This record gives sequence, C-alpha cells and structure tokens, in this order.
Amino acid sequence: MPFLNLGLSNNINKALDENAYTNPTPIQEKVIPLILQNKDIMAKAQTGSGKTASFVLPILQLLLNKEDKERKKKAKISTLVLTPTRELALQVSKAFIDFSIYFDNKPKVVSVIGGESLTQQLLDIQKGCDIVVATTGRLLDILDKKQINLSTLEFFVLDEADKMLDLGFEKELEQLLESLPKNRQNLLFSATYPQKMLNIASKITSNAQEIFV
Ligand code: AMP
Repeated sequence: MPFLNLGLSNNINKALDENAYTNPTPIQEKVIPLILQNKDIMAKAQTGSGKTASFVLPILQLLLNKEDKERKKKAKISTLVLTPTRELALQVSKAFIDFSIYFDNKPKVVSVIGGESLTQQLLDIQKGCDIVVATTGRLLDILDKKQINLSTLEFFVLDEADKMLDLGFEKELEQLLESLPKNRQNLLFSATYPQKMLNIASKITSNAQEIFV
C-alpha cells in the first residue's frame, strides 16, 4: 500500500516523495491511521523499523489540521518527544523539520538536550515553539527553573523507552510525568516490553492500542 492511502495531506506526501519514502513500513502502516484517530499507542518497534516517521508524520498531520484555527498566534508546545540519547533527539527533530518543509506555517522544533548551550535552548523556548524533542536530564533542569510551560501539551511520545530504563532514567521519567497535563495522547515506542517497562507504561496510559509488528 502506498503512503497516498494513509490520509496524509499533499504537502506531507510531497516531502515523503522527495525523501524517497514510497511505501510505508509495516509499523507505519499500522500506527499512522491509529494516531490520526487520536488513539494512544504502545508499539514494539526496533530501530530501523521506520518508527520515527510512524509518529512524526501523523503528529504533523494533526498539527496541520488545526493550523488555520489555532496556530496563527505565538506557538504553544503541543508535542513532547522524550528520547534516551542526544543523537536520537536530533534525528527526531530533523524528521519533524524535513517532513514539514512544505507547510505554510512550519512548526517550530526545539531540541532540548545536554551538551549544548542551555541559554540558546531557553531563548528558543521563550520565542515560542510547537515541538520539543528532549532528553530527560536537560528537560528536568529547565522544568526546575520554571522556564518551560507544558500545560498546552497534546502529544507525548516516549521513544526507545526500554533504552531509557536501561540507562537508569526511571526516576527522572516518573518525575517528568508529574509535570505533564493529564489529558494528552500518549505514544510509546520500545524494542522490548519487560515488566519494568510495563510498569512505566501503566503510569503513562491505560487504554493504548498495542502494536506488535
Ligand atoms: P527509524 O527506524 O525510524 O530509525 O528509520 C530507519 C531508517 O529508515 C531511516 O533512515 C529512515 O529515514 C528510513 N525510513 C523509514 N521509513 C521509511 C519508508 N517508509 N521508506 C523509506 N525509508 C524509510
């Protein structure tokens, strides 16, 4: 099945075309329609499965759907993606930028990661952004300083969640969850689902569609 049948707008399909994405991968084919229906997702997905685009594309589409109505004013943070590493955060940010290149009103994406200028990240957040892609340590730092407002959050993505737990970020993750508004769409991606992972998952969502490809 080609991407054209998944219900994405022309300006996303054009970017897909230019990036040589012709057919969705199995996870994309399953997950994209569910996210477009505002479902919570718990997906088992390995690196290389195409998991990044499986959440980036439908989130962009949902943002695009309300572009005219709500996004004319200063941007508000609608999307938070948490990743275990800076490298993955930058990769995810790039995907959001690459696939929204034909939007009239391009979402502003900020990578909130350690090892780079905190001042610059604070400035970018202050100017207004739609999408924050973060590693936990730096995000908690900024939350502690009360320099970020997540009350407008609609989409929460936890990417490579098992890796995050392996790296020992469980406590941080729990702390972070307390700062998020309760009413949000949750998208969980993990290569494995050991008990520890299921415990965290149960704190994030109670009605997720499980996708095991
Ligand atoms: P990911 O698993 O999201 O890290 O993606 C692995 C690689 O596959 C990345 O280089 C993507 O750009 C590429 N990719 C993902 N989905 C597709 C697709 N539907 N068609 C072609 N390449 C893809």
